[in-house]
Amino acid sequence: MKYYSLNNHNSKASFKEAAVTGIAPDKGLYFPETIPQLESGFINNIEDYSNTEIAVKAITPFIGDEIPPDKLREIVEETLAFSFPLVQVDEDVYALELFHGPTLAFKDVGARFMSRCLRYFLQDDKKEVTVLVATSGDTGGAVASGFLGVEGIKVVILYPSGKVSDVQERQLTTLGQNITALEVSGTFDDCQDMVKQAFLDDELKGLNLTSANSINIARWLPQMFYYFFAYKELRKNGRPLVVSVPSGNFGNICAGMMAKKMGLPIMHFIAATNANDTVPRYMESRRYVPMPAVETLSNAMDVSNPSNFVRILELFGPESLSQELSSYSFTDEETLKTIAQLHKNHHYLPDPHGAVGYLGLKKFMKTNPGVTGVFLETAHPVKFGESITGNFGIKIALPGQIKTLMYLEKKKIQIENYEGLKKVLAKI
Ligand SMILES: *Cc1c(COP(=O)(O)O)cnc(C)c1O
Repeated sequence: MKYYSLNNHNSKASFKEAAVTGIAPDKGLYFPETIPQLESGFINNIEDYSNTEIAVKAITPFIGDEIPPDKLREIVEETLAFSFPLVQVDEDVYALELFHGPTLAFKDVGARFMSRCLRYFLQDDKKEVTVLVATSGDTGGAVASGFLGVEGIKVVILYPSGKVSDVQERQLTTLGQNITALEVSGTFDDCQDMVKQAFLDDELKGLNLTSANSINIARWLPQMFYYFFAYKELRKNGRPLVVSVPSGNFGNICAGMMAKKMGLPIMHFIAATNANDTVPRYMESRRYVPMPAVETLSNAMDVSNPSNFVRILELFGPESLSQELSSYSFTDEETLKTIAQLHKNHHYLPDPHGAVGYLGLKKFMKTNPGVTGVFLETAHPVKFGESITGNFGIKIALPGQIKTLMYLEKKKIQIENYEGLKKVLAKI
């Protein structure tokens, strides 16, 4: 498979080049040259396949012969080494729980897949790569865990001081080895700007910098697996399937829309956002006007200019988009009310991101009856303990993945600005 840059369709790269460099030389996002089509025999008998088999079938055409089949199967198996339970929450409403991986958020799948692809590609090249990533919370932990101890790869994570939760900070700062955590006095946008500046800096060329955000195809594409898993569980009930995705950078939902374009029968997508509502406003007015990002309880979605929206427009042009996608924004107040209500009436405790997804789903189903709805539960509620326990006095048991972190020392380097970042990069 070849990938073209969304800035220039003649600028093409292999899967390997796109995964190793992250972004095209002209700074465009990579996009697959053709969309593979699924066989109807596979879709109609999807229950007969294991999750690994489904994922291998879905991802293979995007990689072609760049990774041998047995190696790719091994990568997929390791990526999916935990469960993805579908939990009924309400009549015709299900939560697909994507938080049972090592860092308790859905980003584990993308990070694990990408790290293993890079390891495979770099082992023969004898080349060192530095993964530079800005995080508003969950990306950093997933990337740190996914890349821990991978030879030939150094990971540098920038996070905004005081703006990630305690559990999230522990996930970034306690691993050590090839992982370096930088605490930036500033906002997530400041972190993101420093990362962008580093990619453009000729003096850093020797470091072979790459991204591990969802702009990287090797992190973005495996997220389509979730939608296959949901369909596999619910195909038998015969109603049209709609999926609501709590969205920030729109990588996850864009992967789902790719799965639909390949032939997976999903009737409609709902992009549920917090107060950062650039896409809901776009769907109303067809004008794309990002505002400065605002802080919310669902901090992993505090993104005002979602990188992957251009990919969604490439999949489904602006004219047909309303048929495929609805998008709604919800306040923190609505989010908290929903957490309390789901906990009390349905004995289900969502995290703030999942609650936003549930709200989006219910809003759509109100005017579109007769469907089965799934919302993606993208993080374990314990990651946002403060907003849940603080507000309701609900106690959340610590899962094993977190317990051990509580005794480890946080190690981080404080930096003020871009010069500080360059100093660190020169030394590691
Ligand atoms: C990253 C994240 C999101 C948003 O996903 P995108 O692919 O950026 O839209 C939602 N929920 C949680 C918990 C996240 O960590």
